[in-house]
Amino acid sequence: MVYTGNLHTHSTFSDGKHSPREIIEAAIGLGFDVIGLSDHSYTDFDSSYCLPPVRYEEYKNEVRALQTEYADRIKVMLGIELDYFSNPQDKEGFDYFISGVHYVKANGVYHPIDLSAAATQKCVDEGFGGNKVAFAKAYYDSVVDSLKEKPLFLAHFDLITKHGVPDQTDPHYINVAKQALDAVLEADIPVEVNTGAMARGATDWPYPAEFLMRHIAEKNGRVTLGSDCHDCTKLDYAFDVALSALRRNGVRSIWNYNGTQFVEQEI
Ligand SMILES: [Zn+2]
Ligand SMILES: [Zn+2]
Repeated sequence: MVYTGNLHTHSTFSDGKHSPREIIEAAIGLGFDVIGLSDHSYTDFDSSYCLPPVRYEEYKNEVRALQTEYADRIKVMLGIELDYFSNPQDKEGFDYFISGVHYVKANGVYHPIDLSAAATQKCVDEGFGGNKVAFAKAYYDSVVDSLKEKPLFLAHFDLITKHGVPDQTDPHYINVAKQALDAVLEADIPVEVNTGAMARGATDWPYPAEFLMRHIAEKNGRVTLGSDCHDCTKLDYAFDVALSALRRNGVRSIWNYNGTQFVEQEI
């Protein structure tokens, strides 16, 4: 097995279906060495999916207790997925955090970019006068800026493609995405190959797009694997598909975090 864990999971503390304990038990069932909880940090303009501030301590205490209880069976890590527009201090007191950009801010309005094609198109129209490349540039600028917090890895690099709004064959879009990817690779922050949208039936491909996987291979960049799990029965969903896509595009290894450091594993 080339993957030994998953550090991108969501429990009932944010928008996941299962409790931290159920996720840990599922990870043990798969023979994982490490499992990380990474519920969504709080965004004050949209509280529909994230961890409310009053529950941070409860979340930390519960996962810490499970960490101790399961110590002889699996390494449990307490993490958080820090949204770009959350308070950066929300990452304090966790074993790790990952960065995710889920909104594009335009004219003072936060537009969700993974909700629906209509919501994404509304952002393009109202925020960028219909210019999809300018929309993509704004998104990728946030992605690059999120790295200043130094996350363990970057979640779903090209999430804006989820509903098919940017034209991924447009050379201008390709250029914008590759430039942002270069900045991530230069910072040497692993790029997550993310099967979350596949698990929810929204796409039949993982993030990032294959032309970006090729770019990573050419630049000898690092990737890690995450399922962005919101349902513990899909903890390793489509990891085989993601690995095939990586191999097909010239990526020779993935980097698994073992709880202390990233370990390179040939694929
Ligand atoms: Zn996310
Ligand atoms: Zn996530």
